[in-house]
Amino acid sequence: MSSLSDLALPHIAKLHAYTPGLQPTEPGWVKLNTNESPYGPSPRVAEAIRRELGEHADGDPLRLYPNPKSTPLRQLVAKIHGHGLREGNVIIGNGSDDILNLLMRAFGGPAAATGFTFPSYSLYPVLVAIQKGMSQVIEFDRSMKLPVEKIAASNAHAFFLTSPNAPTGVAFTNAELEAVLARFSGLLVVDEAYAPFARENAVSLLKRYPNLVITRTLSKAHALAGIRVGYALAHPDVIELLDRVRDSYNVNRLSQAAACAALGDPGYYDVIIGKIIRTRDHWLGEWAGRRGWFTYESQSNFIFTEPKNARGESGPAVAKELYEFLLSRKILIRYFPSHALTASFLRISVGSDDEMFAVNSAIEAWLKIAP
Ligand SMILES: *Cc1c(COP(=O)(O)O)cnc(C)c1O
Repeated sequence: MSSLSDLALPHIAKLHAYTPGLQPTEPGWVKLNTNESPYGPSPRVAEAIRRELGEHADGDPLRLYPNPKSTPLRQLVAKIHGHGLREGNVIIGNGSDDILNLLMRAFGGPAAATGFTFPSYSLYPVLVAIQKGMSQVIEFDRSMKLPVEKIAASNAHAFFLTSPNAPTGVAFTNAELEAVLARFSGLLVVDEAYAPFARENAVSLLKRYPNLVITRTLSKAHALAGIRVGYALAHPDVIELLDRVRDSYNVNRLSQAAACAALGDPGYYDVIIGKIIRTRDHWLGEWAGRRGWFTYESQSNFIFTEPKNARGESGPAVAKELYEFLLSRKILIRYFPSHALTASFLRISVGSDDEMFAVNSAIEAWLKIAP
């Protein structure tokens, strides 16, 4: 008998799946590797989930399928963002990864090139490969400035741009995005997973550019990575196309209820987001300013920094050494060794004060043991 993988489509048989950051199951780790929030979600989330479990005498809601289009959540998202957005401008996903996948299903494939930058979110090339699509990769240089001309000249049907970018934390301005949008005829998908930590976002551009799609997630700023909710804002024609390729019940009841409760409590999130921004700016100042480590200006909830050892050297070997030293102390951060633009850097998610002190003390210990 042929091997089971011979039965799969050839492009799937040789597919390299996305590698998520490590999710350790034992306790005791300082986990700063996947940009989760160090703070819990709004207390209204647990209350909403209890209600959905029927604990308030309204039956057993889990017997029933969820709202297929997550309609109440679409309405709430439209209202929160303002700028004249309506329910028809919104689609909800099982995480924003679901939305990115829907975009690829609808706009990518063998007959339609898909663009993205490098470095950026490493799920995009995997989604392209699943659809047997062609990738157009536009590389940043070390300045990490947006290559506006190159993107505008691309013939991609959809171009994925992360802003603020991952893993650098560098945000692009609306003026830069408009320079692309004015000349690019494909869909520009701006992945705004980290926008709540940034000074600016692209929502106000939606009404002028029908080819702009913005994706958001509740996994980062809203401290709900475990609940899997994300959404896209776009022209109603784009939303209608995405709805055609969506699983009919793509967001479960508990997640819809949790997301509505979270988005209904902006006061809570203003406080924790403000705290994360202050923590970020403090440690960025310490490492970039006081230690003199080259660090990109972050408008996200992580810091991408190029460590120097006690002799003042930086580079891939130094980054790897510090990564492994921190790992041996049960501090988990992210290292991207596969490309020259990222290999001498480390990405540290912004954690609680205690977690950040733990990282900094470990860095000091590492500097002392140098030969
Ligand atoms: C975390 C992240 C996502 C994934 O969000 P989910 O809603 O958890 O699927 C998407 N894009 C970028 C750039 C991210 O960093």
